[in-house]
Amino acid sequence: MNVSQLAKVELHLHLEGAAPAAFIRQLAHEKNVDISGIFTPDGGYDFENFIEFLAVYEAATQVLQSPEDFQRLTTAVLAECMANDVVYVESFLSPEFCGGGDLSAWREYLHAIREAAAQAERQHGIIMRGIPTCIRHLGPERAKATARCAAETAGDWIVGFGMGGDEMQGRQGDFAYSFDMAHEAGLHLTSHAGEWGGAASVWQAIEDLRVVRIGHGVQAIEDPALVTELVAREIVLEVCPGSNVALGVAKTLATHPIRALREAGVKVTVSTDDPPFFSTTMRQEYQSLAEAYDWTADDFRDLNATAAAAAFCDEATRGRVLEKLELP
Ligand SMILES: [Zn+2]
Repeated sequence: MNVSQLAKVELHLHLEGAAPAAFIRQLAHEKNVDISGIFTPDGGYDFENFIEFLAVYEAATQVLQSPEDFQRLTTAVLAECMANDVVYVESFLSPEFCGGGDLSAWREYLHAIREAAAQAERQHGIIMRGIPTCIRHLGPERAKATARCAAETAGDWIVGFGMGGDEMQGRQGDFAYSFDMAHEAGLHLTSHAGEWGGAASVWQAIEDLRVVRIGHGVQAIEDPALVTELVAREIVLEVCPGSNVALGVAKTLATHPIRALREAGVKVTVSTDDPPFFSTTMRQEYQSLAEAYDWTADDFRDLNATAAAAAFCDEATRGRVLEKLELP
């Protein structure tokens, strides 16, 4: 069996960032919104660097205007997940894009997203859970509204809280209030760090926000003491190799830190981040890793076992996920 077709767990997927370009074009057409400038001639998303990527991302999300749009988006994204043999996915959701951080609006958007997820699970068995994320470059005050949305809807479906956005703005600790609020509501914590902010940002995330997972975290490789700490604390990295290469965090997959981190004993997992933006899929990630490192089916089963153990879902759900992965 080709390793790219193994059953997979994906822990780091931004719902809007997973929107196929054709889906966003169609929605723009229906709503008469002109965002033609964000597409390449062959229909992909057009950007040169991380800051442009954020701008294109925000332009694309402009056409996602209602709970119904998000319901359709969720259905489209889960279809892509299933086409890549993903059996369990945790998706980052942004209350900022779903009602501007307003709690009652967020509840309506969340209801629509969950409807789509429930239907996909009933029909196809794929399991989805949500992790509301604040947007770092909007600042700590806006993050509090997002944390409140997350805390008020915490439960068996909203299982975590996180932070994305421009990692070079502010410090992780500036958002401690929001992370504490989410933690008190029983949510598990993750934050983007060590993608752009260096090893120092990973230290900040584990010391100041008490996260148990790190989004990316690959720059931890620069600091041996941090690598030791990540191993000791069993912090799990949500590594997105294709995203890192596309944005220039790593020059090539051959020089990407995931292998060295894994060999050092850090718990690493594999995800796609914003797959259509980076011209990748989960199958493509597995294929590329297998080719770059000679990883075998056993290596990928190990990565999936790590991901299943690090999933923020309840134990009954984890049991179902392990069954789907055919893992003990
Ligand atoms: Zn991300």
